[in-house]
Amino acid sequence: MSQTLGSESNPLRIAIVGGGPSGFYAAESLFKSGLSVSVDMYDRLPTPYGLLRGGVAPDHQQMKSVAKAYERVALSNPQFQFLGNIKIGEDVTIDDLKACYDAVIFACGAETDKHLGIPGENLPGSYAATEFVGWYNSHPNYRDRVFDLQTAKSVAIIGQGNVAIDVTRILAKTTEELAGSDIAEYAKAALAASSIQEIHLIGRRGPVQSAFTELEIKELGELLDAEPVVDPGVIILGDACQAELDEPTNNKARKNFAVLQRFAGRQSEGKPKKIYIRFFESPVEIKGDTHVKSLVLENNRLAGPAGAQKAEPTGEKFELACDLVFRSVGYRGVAIPGVPFDEKRGVFPNVSGRLTDNGQPVYGFYAVGWIKRGPSGVLGSNKPDSADTVKTLISDLDQLKPAENRDNQLIIEKLGNHQIVSFSDWKKIEAEEIRRGETLSKPRDKFSKIEEMLEAGRS
Ligand code: NAP
Repeated sequence: MSQTLGSESNPLRIAIVGGGPSGFYAAESLFKSGLSVSVDMYDRLPTPYGLLRGGVAPDHQQMKSVAKAYERVALSNPQFQFLGNIKIGEDVTIDDLKACYDAVIFACGAETDKHLGIPGENLPGSYAATEFVGWYNSHPNYRDRVFDLQTAKSVAIIGQGNVAIDVTRILAKTTEELAGSDIAEYAKAALAASSIQEIHLIGRRGPVQSAFTELEIKELGELLDAEPVVDPGVIILGDACQAELDEPTNNKARKNFAVLQRFAGRQSEGKPKKIYIRFFESPVEIKGDTHVKSLVLENNRLAGPAGAQKAEPTGEKFELACDLVFRSVGYRGVAIPGVPFDEKRGVFPNVSGRLTDNGQPVYGFYAVGWIKRGPSGVLGSNKPDSADTVKTLISDLDQLKPAENRDNQLIIEKLGNHQIVSFSDWKKIEAEEIRRGETLSKPRDKFSKIEEMLEAGRS
């Protein structure tokens, strides 16, 4: 019998680090490759699905249904194993993985937030949107964060991507509108007691360059108690913006612009909360003594050719009074000891998914999802992206150094009494979350403490 890696007598042994969408798409591609493959998927949490569980907004339940497809990958492939509650780089080292797997696929996403680098960024009352998103989604790392929603009247959100829109919508929705979502109960209660009246959604460029997508921006016009406000002045376009809008492939900008045009032309419906969608403004300082009191903004103009226009400061500054600031300017990957890292971009440097170190290929190390390409695209973008990496991995078969151990026993022994959560343990956790949700009329009531998850997994 052949001993070639990937043959029936010698299955290709792969570790996937991270159990989010890109990790599951990578596993799916491997199982569809025609090779004989075994996949061990590690996640630091006891729960799979990454940002689908901890990032996708709790009121976007339809999007969460894709978890069924990931579950099929786990349950229909006997060579798939989920090993939750294990942090790679701490509980298990990269050398341990190398000893037990022929290749490692990093699917560990972009765990942290990008910084603005302005004075006052760390004042109490200034938060990364990523923390708030984790908090309302019951993420154990963020469940204990406290946001002063009860006393705040005015909130500034910096950035205009879909995360900023999610944060805006969750802050603006009534308890009634959050019914049927799986938002954390503590977050629902805090939001119900919120006194927020004004939300300022601040973009550094113009309406044609906005990063959000049509479906998401449109929802801001459909809220019970809140209405969008757009200055009609920003809808008048200069030549370069008009050229961008007319560019045949720029459907996204045309759709966004049409929604913003409608918002700018709307009469107020007298709803108590206002969402001011602002453009051409950059934050330069967050002011306050013991807590955020205001945000200093500088007006921008656009400079550069159509399609590549950048915000350029005009020198005109002004102060916007606000009680809270959410910084929503993108996510960033985190380094793992023993793995090459691009500090500037916050990704693992790679060519077509194969990691590189000082420009040289690192055979055996691969990346998918946000740690590969940076924090961009929607969930579905990960499917072709992961398939591309798996293609690269398979084309490297001859270059791989087969692992000495042909199972993961070495790692299991090293972990000793540490509780490992298998996929069937996760199904017990999930069943309990769904059961708890029934009494609250929600799809699930998620555990937010690791200990509770582990206990449910043991039961
Ligand atoms: P994003 O889409 O990249 O948006 C980042 C925003 O921050 C942009 O408006 C950007 O402006 C702005 N920004 C960056 N640096 C800035 C600075 N120094 N000062 C002021 N503004 C700054 O990022 P995201 O919102 O975190 O979303 C990440 C990805 O997840 C995106 O692909 C998004 O579509 C996706 N996502 C999708 C959904 C959904 O499908 N419903 C929900 C959430 C997230 P510029 O454009 O000028 O750079």
